[in-house]
Amino acid sequence: MPRMGGTSTHQFTIQSAYRLQHRDIHALEGDWKSLWDWKWPHRIQTFIWLVAQKRILTNFRRSKWRVGISPLCTRCGRDDEITIHVLCECVYATQVWLRLVPSNFITDFFTFDCRNWIFNNISKQGIGGHSTNWKITFMTTCWFMWAWRNKAIFEKNFQQLNNPVLVIQNFAQKIDLCSNQRLHCNFQMKETIYIGWKNPPLKVGLNSIVMVLAKEMENIQVVVTSFVTLNGYG
Ligand SMILES: [Zn+2]
Repeated sequence: MPRMGGTSTHQFTIQSAYRLQHRDIHALEGDWKSLWDWKWPHRIQTFIWLVAQKRILTNFRRSKWRVGISPLCTRCGRDDEITIHVLCECVYATQVWLRLVPSNFITDFFTFDCRNWIFNNISKQGIGGHSTNWKITFMTTCWFMWAWRNKAIFEKNFQQLNNPVLVIQNFAQKIDLCSNQRLHCNFQMKETIYIGWKNPPLKVGLNSIVMVLAKEMENIQVVVTSFVTLNGYG
C-alpha cells in the first residue's frame, strides 16, 4: 500500500497533498507588500505586478515562442526588447526618467536588474523631489511608458506627446490628491445596493419588459457612475 509523504503518520490528508504540491515552488523575492499596499488605480498596480513577474509581452518573449519574430526593440532597434529596456533603458524611457529622477539618484536608478529596480523604487518614499510621493510617480510613469509604447506601435494616428513628463506629473498628482482625500475625508468606497426584481404587469409585451428593465438599470447606472467618478482612474 502506498505511503503518503509529508506527514508523520504517512496517512493521506488534503493538507499534506497541498504541501507536497507546493514545496518546490519558491516565492519570488521582493517587497510584494509594498506593491499591494498601494490601492489605486488597480490597473497600474496590476501592471507593475506583471512587470515584477517579467510577464509583459515584449518582443524578446514573443521571439522565444515563434520563429521569425525579432527580439529587438521596435522603437529604437538597438537592443533586445526586454522588460527593463522597455521601461527604463530605451531612449524613449530614459529621456523621461532623466527629467523625473533627481540628479543625485540617477546613478543608482539605472543600475538595478528589473525586479530589484521595481521594488527599490516602490519601497522608497520621497525621491523625485515632487509633491507626490515617488512610488506613485514611478508606477504611473512605468504604466504610461508601456501604454504610449503600444499606442506608438499599434495606433496609426497616435501623436507623440510634446511633454510626457507633465502628463505623468499631473496624473500622479491627481492620484495623490484622491488618495489623501480618501484618507482624510474617510468616505466609504463601498456601498451596499439591494437589487431586486419586480414582476411586470400582467399581459405585457416584450417592449414593456424592456422598459421596466431600463428603468431599473437607470438607478443602478447612477450609482455606478458615481463609483467610477470616485475611483477616478480605476
Ligand atoms: Zn528601445
